[in-house]
Amino acid sequence: MAQKGFNPFEMAQKQFDKVADLLDLDQPTRDLLRQPMREYHFSIPVRMDDGSVRIFRGFRCQHNDARGPCKGGIRFHPQETIDTVRALSMWMTWKTAVVDIPLGGGKGGVICDPHDLSPREQERLCRGYIRAIAHDVGPLRDVPAPDVMTNPQHMLWMLDEFETIHGAKYPGFITGKPVGLGGSLGRTEATGYGLIYTVREALTEMGLKIAQTTASVQGFGNVAQYAIQLYTKLGGKVIAVACWDQADQTSYTYKKKTGVNLEELLAITDRFGTIDKAKAEALGYERLPGEAWIEQDVDILLPCALENQINAETVQKIKPRVKLIAEGANGPTTLEADEVIQKRGIFVIPDFLANAGGVTCSYFEQVQCNMNYFWTKEEVLQKLDEKMTAAFKAVSELARNRKLYMRDAAYVISVSRVANACKERGWV
Ligand code: GLU
Repeated sequence: MAQKGFNPFEMAQKQFDKVADLLDLDQPTRDLLRQPMREYHFSIPVRMDDGSVRIFRGFRCQHNDARGPCKGGIRFHPQETIDTVRALSMWMTWKTAVVDIPLGGGKGGVICDPHDLSPREQERLCRGYIRAIAHDVGPLRDVPAPDVMTNPQHMLWMLDEFETIHGAKYPGFITGKPVGLGGSLGRTEATGYGLIYTVREALTEMGLKIAQTTASVQGFGNVAQYAIQLYTKLGGKVIAVACWDQADQTSYTYKKKTGVNLEELLAITDRFGTIDKAKAEALGYERLPGEAWIEQDVDILLPCALENQINAETVQKIKPRVKLIAEGANGPTTLEADEVIQKRGIFVIPDFLANAGGVTCSYFEQVQCNMNYFWTKEEVLQKLDEKMTAAFKAVSELARNRKLYMRDAAYVISVSRVANACKERGWV
């Protein structure tokens, strides 16, 4: 999303350039990989409930499909920008490569605030989005999924529109569909759980017991909620959660030293994902400013919201006790903050590895749709755990052996895989 002075695409390109140097990549490969191969910009006219028409701007970026069809979510956000979508599409390419699934990277977005749209208006927006790109996406070209502020219902409307246009059933066109309508069990949990599988592995390598650790979480959406659920189940204690407040248009950190209770918080969260301030305080939560999540005296920080949250300024607030940062969000840490974190020796599980659980489960969803045979939730989560654990171990081993920062090690693995695919296809 647009934030003053911060451009996620420039950040993604700089991260890439650093690794391109490390790998000594040739110029054509650099030129190919430092921007999306294709991008679509379009207007989506939507008939509003009051009879008027509003025009929304939509984007889809297809960064790279050398390893398989492009893959990545569609975000609805009032501050969405093309550069955000470009960056996110690039990170998707690295994400599918680091977990070694046969997919490329893409991302879409619409500038809108779904809070202001009725369900019928959201349906028309979803259908309009697909009408604009129906001939440039598809199960063998580019496969969308949910992302910030989009959900399984949105995916189903999009699928229905795509199938109407193409006149057949294409369950592999989109993932994150509702269970029973082509969705996979475990997909809702996948990103948050995947994050905690990597946290578990990192703590084991660090010789720490999860049950003796505490965490502070930024965000209270899908990723954060399931991360809190699994981390707590494994014995960890979350002492603070930062949540967006729709009415106040700001966020607050809710803190409870004895540990936040997910069920209790969910019971007082409205359909916009806002925690009820008065009820939280009545339940013994201390309400602090939104940024307070980062300055908690905890072992683990879990940024699970948006980009640019750990930056040159906020990184200074991280307490000495913090040993691990696991990035549930895409692009939460800027390059300047990375330098500080690296110097301080805090272990980082970088975004495109840490939050790859969602897309990994999307891949399982496609596999199940292709077979038209669906696995149990246990089977899905077990396969997810295996994939995430293997990817984490490969990255941390490389980081150890070559004395690389974890983010750079993950980049080395992903960029090499994608560059090789481009080379072997004869593109560069
Ligand atoms: N939007 C999610 C992500 O950023 C999931 C993408 C997908 O399942 O394709 O990884």
